Amino acid sequence: MTENIISSAVIIGAGIFGVSTAVQLARRGVCVTILNDGPPANGASGRSLSWLNSARMRSEPYHRLRMAGIDRYRTLSARFPDANWLRFDGGLTWDADDERNEIDAAYRYEVSLGYDAQWLPGADVAAVTPGVNASAITSQGAIFNPGEGWVDLPTLIGLLLKEYSRLGGALVTDQGAARAVIEGGRVVGAETAMGGRFPADAVVLATGPAVPRMAAESGQTIGDGTPIALLVQTKPLAHPLRAVLNTPRVAVRPAPGGAFSLDADWAADEGVRRRPDGGFDIDDTVIAALLAEAANVMEGNPKLEVARIGVGGKPIPGDGEPVVGALKAIKGYYVAFSHSGATLGLILGELLAFEVARGDEHPMLATFRPERFAFR
Ligand SMILES: Cc1cc2nc3c(=O)[nH]c(=O)nc-3n(C[C@H](O)[C@H](O)[C@H](O)COP(=O)(O)OP(=O)(O)OC[C@H]3O[C@@H](n4cnc5c(N)ncnc54)[C@H](O)[C@@H]3O)c2cc1C
Repeated sequence: MTENIISSAVIIGAGIFGVSTAVQLARRGVCVTILNDGPPANGASGRSLSWLNSARMRSEPYHRLRMAGIDRYRTLSARFPDANWLRFDGGLTWDADDERNEIDAAYRYEVSLGYDAQWLPGADVAAVTPGVNASAITSQGAIFNPGEGWVDLPTLIGLLLKEYSRLGGALVTDQGAARAVIEGGRVVGAETAMGGRFPADAVVLATGPAVPRMAAESGQTIGDGTPIALLVQTKPLAHPLRAVLNTPRVAVRPAPGGAFSLDADWAADEGVRRRPDGGFDIDDTVIAALLAEAANVMEGNPKLEVARIGVGGKPIPGDGEPVVGALKAIKGYYVAFSHSGATLGLILGELLAFEVARGDEHPMLATFRPERFAFR
């Protein structure tokens, strides 16, 4: 029995949020069109560390949402137990040996939430997960979270788009930037830079780092803390590391085919400069230093070589919490804008599609409403 109050929707953006929401709407029988300004997954989702986790401290609603996110990946993983693009091989984290080391507090907090966590001295790490250079672990020890994992978002997006296409969903990728068309206080569809018009009952803005700017063009405020981020993918190598490592100077996660993805805020801050033409210059010495940091936390100090570098905005709302749901001042207009979009990708699409299709509010999104920024 259909509970839908709409029959058609346009999704602007083919990153994980846009595609996940689109496939969920298509499953509900809504006629959906995705508009993307390039190939799918060409934004943050194509250059993400994609560590699936709810580690450390955050608000309780956000923790619950992330755990539901991990739950959906577990279900997917049960369907694809041998996938090389979705693994639950755990996460290992440690902090620098200085006054900011919060391993003790983080461990206690995680245990208080029932988040699966083991606090280990470096010498005991090899017993729970392979491929780590134990001597790099600081004296305060490391936390191993066996329930964490990682996903390769481009592969997931491709898989979701196959189902979406089977369900009759349309994907438009060759018409430049799109924007919502608003008439009389409600959304009536979207149009592309090349003049394509796509009438719809609802529009979802899922353009990653571009969401706050595009919402502002319609007079809507969304706090923006988006930094420029850098993700380095190595060439494949034979190495036993399986867990996602979050260490003081680098995060390392396995990637399909034996590659590793590397991420560090300092490397983006020091090594990336935006050019006046909108492109980026990347400092080779910083990339070399990042590779050295990664090799240092991996067993045997392997020789790492760059295969690919991804640079661009990492979508982060101004207050750090997800921004999801209706832009209430404009009927039919919805947004999805968040960090941790890998962890949240499946659940956010599911909950947002629930809201868009039914015109209803899902209680798990109650604290993540966009209008919270209107009153600041
Ligand atoms: C370096 C890095 C590390 C990260 N690490 C993690 C992590 O460990 N764990 C985790 O859970 N999350 C992580 N994230 C966050 C996660 O990757 C993002 O939250 C998620 O990918 C955002 O997906 P999205 O769909 O919102 O945006 P995007 O993937 O950016 O997709 C938006 C799409 O919209 C398109 N677009 C933009 N403007 C327009 C327009 N006007 N018209 C048409 N199309 C348009 C873009 O081209 C793009 O394809 C990380 C992100 C980065 C960058």
